Order: sequence, then structure tokens, then C-alpha cells
Amino acid sequence: MHAVGIVAAAGSGLRLGAELPKALVPLGGRPLVCWAVESLRAGGVEQVVVAVPASQQAAFTAVLPADVQVVVGGDTRTASVRAALAAAREHVSDQERTAVLVHDAARPLTPPDVVARVLAALAGGARAVVPVLPVVDTTVVVDADGVVTADVPRAPLRRVQTPQGFDRATLVAAYAHAHGTAAEFTDDASVVRAAGIPVHTVAGDERAAKITVAHDLRMAELQTERLR
Ligand code: C5P
Repeated sequence: MHAVGIVAAAGSGLRLGAELPKALVPLGGRPLVCWAVESLRAGGVEQVVVAVPASQQAAFTAVLPADVQVVVGGDTRTASVRAALAAAREHVSDQERTAVLVHDAARPLTPPDVVARVLAALAGGARAVVPVLPVVDTTVVVDADGVVTADVPRAPLRRVQTPQGFDRATLVAAYAHAHGTAAEFTDDASVVRAAGIPVHTVAGDERAAKITVAHDLRMAELQTERLR
């Protein structure tokens, strides 16, 4: 199956407290976005489109491999992926079904095995697939004062990671369906589910954790030191 990757890298990363957009912050001497592109490729993705902040296009182009397409993202993650999905049209295969894998630049150390599992599930016929992990902490609901109001049984809960994989036509149709709705989506699988399409799961990996705060970056640095 022909596979195109989209990397959402247009966020500001304010919670990381860096001067740079998060995707340009270095890890082991390389920007996060370069790690994310590399793990998609190592897992079997052929072409990659990266959505970047409008003000930083030149900086991203300077650090990314020349065969990676750079597009300007939007104000929300959904808008950024929509822009990259439109640009990815030119990488569609005439001969084969095309898979689109949407990945966060903020998950630099995603093992290629996770990418390969997502691709295998799509090749097996799934139209949408996400890597997930179990919830290990006791999970509760709180009210506005922070007082616990309910316990949530954790057995059926999962944490959703990226890359999330889709049959391209399915993702395009789901984004068209979502256009104009007021709904806010934090990932692509929820866009697809809102269009009534079932989303399948494969095993994720703790190493695919998202870098959000400074502590996450320090943990990732330790991981890369172990890799060296
Ligand atoms: O904000 P959050 O950590 O959920 O962002 C997840 C990913 O989406 C990040 O890699 C970020 O760069 C990307 N993003 C984007 N466009 C936005 C906001 C976030 O591509 N407007």
C-alpha cells in the first residue's frame, strides 16, 4: 500500500517554554520535526508533507530534507492537517490505495514498529487506525472546585497516540464532513469518528510519548543518550 505521511508541526509549543516553535526545538542536536519525519520513513512511509507556522517556513525548510514538502499550517491542529492533506493530493498513487499517516512533530521518538503496525492494519482493510496504550492510573472526574465527583472504570480506557492512519479517501471525506461544524477536534481519529467511520486500534508504545512540557524533553534526551 502506498503511504504518505503528514506531520503536524505548526503549533507554538508555549507549554514547553522555548523561544522556538516546539517542532524546531533540538533533541540530541536535531529538531523534533526531523526525528518525527525520520520515524515515519523508517516505518515505511514514502512521501512526507509537514505543516509549519507561517512565520517559520524558511527555518523549517532549512532543517528538513529537500524531498519533504513544507506547507503553511493553520490556527488549529485540524486546520494544519487540512492544509497538508490538500497538498498531499499530489503524492497519491494511481495504481494503489493510498494510506495517509498523520503524526505529531511532538512525538519524535516513535519507534518505526508503531508506524509499521498502523500500516499493516490499513493494508488489512481498516479505514482508520490509531495506536493506543492502556490507562494505568486510577482515573476520576472532578468538579470546578477540584473535588472528585465520580470514578471512571479504567479497563476500557485507552490513551491515543500518533501516527494515526487512514485510507486517504476516508480522511478526505471526514475532513469535508467536519468543515463548517463548530466541533473542536484534538486528533484526526475524532474527525473520522464524527463522520460515523469506525476507528480501529493497534498497540502504541511509551516511547511515542508527546513532548509537551520541559520535563518531557529531558526524558526524551535521556532516551536518545541511551540510543547513542
Ligand atoms: O498542542 P498539541 O501538543 O496537542 O499539538 C500536537 C501537534 O499538533 C504538535 O506537533 C503541533 O505542532 C501540531 N499543531 C499544528 N497546528 C496547530 C496546533 C498544533 O500543526 N495550529
